Amino acid sequence: MSVIYDRVALIGLGLIAGSMAHAMREHGLAAEITGYARSAATRETARDIGLCTVFDSAAEAVAGADLVVLAVPVGAMGEVMAEIAPHLAPGATITDVGSVKQSVIDAVAPHVPPGVHFIPGHPLAGTEHSGPRAGFATLFRNRWWLLTPLPDADPDAIARLDRLITAMGAKTDRMEAGHHDLVLAVTSHAPHLIAYTMVGVADHLRRVTDEEVIQYSAAGFRDFTRIAASDPTMWRDVFLHNREATLDILGRFTEELFVLQRAIRMGDGQHLHDYFTRTRAIRRGIIEAGQDTGAPDFGRTPQAKPVT
Ligand code: NAP
Repeated sequence: MSVIYDRVALIGLGLIAGSMAHAMREHGLAAEITGYARSAATRETARDIGLCTVFDSAAEAVAGADLVVLAVPVGAMGEVMAEIAPHLAPGATITDVGSVKQSVIDAVAPHVPPGVHFIPGHPLAGTEHSGPRAGFATLFRNRWWLLTPLPDADPDAIARLDRLITAMGAKTDRMEAGHHDLVLAVTSHAPHLIAYTMVGVADHLRRVTDEEVIQYSAAGFRDFTRIAASDPTMWRDVFLHNREATLDILGRFTEELFVLQRAIRMGDGQHLHDYFTRTRAIRRGIIEAGQDTGAPDFGRTPQAKPVT
């Protein structure tokens, strides 16, 4: 594939920025990739693994870049944008990868200098790992990457960013920021909170010891623990910045939970069966849409217990 941007600057060098660096390099999409992270330790790691050309200041990293990617926690976007704004090249595009869109737009847009294009985005791809070593080139393959451009955004700048994202293997779609936040509250944010809660409940349950919870963790709980291992800073910011939509979905969730609780109490098997039949169809839809594997246990290979 051919070069789409001459110089891409990654601000924040974690899972998402790292995966972008690998994917862009693998497909030859950027002539040069620069980067900056706030801690010396992260910058050092990124240098050690040859992630990109790492600078000790954000200003140096963005100088002359025609694409700048903000890949820091949602709550840090505004501050980072304010810091780099005076150093941006005229005509550059700024995008972000934050999991919440409206609050990022509110925090970033006021700092965008005239002549610089701001196109907010969100790759619907991730793992529970974080940091520069966590990235890998195929993270975005066949995943959605939503763009939430403002109404006056430059169509050519959007099309160019779209080409980069598609070339990294993802599928793009456009959405209004507020709508994005509601959709993600249902599909990602509330489920994460429920996973955190369930793992917290198990942790507090004194009737089963921690050892038993770990030793006999069946698929349901084990999958919750994977989600609940996600980065605490990132998820704290997601909930604080998508507050209304998450609270709305959690309210609906609580109502549904009470209905199921009542069905169990009343021995209403028909209600439970009908409900689980509907939810099973949603799982089938996700597999048919290519967003997960239909293999049993999410395609995991059973691990033999190590001999001690
Ligand atoms: P990550 O691996 O934890 O990396 C975060 C990076 O941001 C690190 O380089 C960190 O620098 C830097 N950072 C943290 N706090 C900062 C602050 N206050 N000011 C400046 N820099 C700061 O995170 P990630 O998973 O790549 O997530 C980055 C963004 O992508 C987030 O906005 C997240 O919502 C979004 N996202 C994540 C996922 C996912 O599943 N992980 C999926 C889609 C979108 P140091 O290492 O130096 O502290």
